[in-house]
Amino acid sequence: MDLYEHQARDLFAGHGVPVSAAEVAHTPGEAREAADRLGGRVVVKAQVKTGGRGKAGGVKLAADAAEAELTARRILGMDIKGHAVAKVMVAETVDIDREFYVSYVLDRAAGTFLAIASAEGGMEIEEVAAHRPEAVARIPVDPEEGVTEAKAMEIAVAAGLPAAAAPVLRALWQVFVREDALLVEVNPLVQAADGHLVALDGKVTLDDNARFRQERWGESGVDPAAEPLEAAAAERGLNYVKLDGEVGVIGNGAGLVMSTLDVVAGCGARPADFLDIGGGASAQVMADGLSVVLSDPSVKSVFVNVFGGITACDAVAEGIVRALESVALTKPLVVRLDGNNAARGREILDARAHPLVQQATTMDGAARRAAELAHAD
Ligand code: ADP
Ligand code: MG
Repeated sequence: MDLYEHQARDLFAGHGVPVSAAEVAHTPGEAREAADRLGGRVVVKAQVKTGGRGKAGGVKLAADAAEAELTARRILGMDIKGHAVAKVMVAETVDIDREFYVSYVLDRAAGTFLAIASAEGGMEIEEVAAHRPEAVARIPVDPEEGVTEAKAMEIAVAAGLPAAAAPVLRALWQVFVREDALLVEVNPLVQAADGHLVALDGKVTLDDNARFRQERWGESGVDPAAEPLEAAAAERGLNYVKLDGEVGVIGNGAGLVMSTLDVVAGCGARPADFLDIGGGASAQVMADGLSVVLSDPSVKSVFVNVFGGITACDAVAEGIVRALESVALTKPLVVRLDGNNAARGREILDARAHPLVQQATTMDGAARRAAELAHAD
């Protein structure tokens, strides 16, 4: 589960990571009041679960409370990579001297944790990593030892960060371990003009498998319920992840859905979601899946990719037909049925002859069609 920046900020504060004072606002008026309390000069930041908000115009300075209100009016409702901005964080501005990058991740391949840090943080860290990998330090962290004082110093020195970063690195490690995170990223960690370090942006991914022992997640509002589509999917027991694109993807089996995302991307379109309806794929599950995907305003077309196994394609086709009775189809649907009883399944869909439903026999063909339909207007 990915967190919003303001939730990450709260976790940081709880573990002693220095952050700027901030409040969440859902309306321009609230933003104005928050700015007033924060001393007027603030930065207004779109709260969406995607990066690159600054470049997209979702992070703006405001000189006083009145400007904060105007700025919030502009940012609220913006679309950033398919994410509608429903709230902003109003934060105290920091006079930035230098911007660093710091993160902890799980390195699955090496079977350990990894600290990644760079003295060249800010908005272009991906480019730094791509073009000047030597500017990005990657230091393994032993899970048993964690980030000791010595380890924190080792990371700071390797990355060219000031010694003052060491205690921040240790506090961030506490966030990573105590909160059961898979990723903790700060970009930028800044050195202010007065020398203080402040985490100005935070990205945290929590490990959903740890939910059973993290009651505080619910209490602190760190809950997927904040993400309406994901909450709706979770309520229906669907395995759904919202992505940034325009082609809705539904498939049976996580592996098939993963490769469907690749094929859609290969056709020059971007998947709008990952939705695995699992092995059963009954009419109810199909209806639930379709209604979740169709309620995402960024979805322009939907690709249903099913490989019939124990649940044969005719049962899935019946499921789609019955789902169409309860879900108002508003966007074109491309269905590819293959595997067990595929021919029978296709007949069933042909017989239904829904004007917005098309079939394709191959995964590539279906993806191409769905991509074309998504880009039709
Ligand atoms: P994103 O990474 O999504 O673009 P950030 O939170 O990193 O969003 O903000 C982008 C840039 O805006 C930062 O690199 C920093 O230069 C500036 N910024 C963010 N928060 C503040 C703040 N509180 N005070 C001053 N500048 C800020
Ligand atoms: Mg950032």
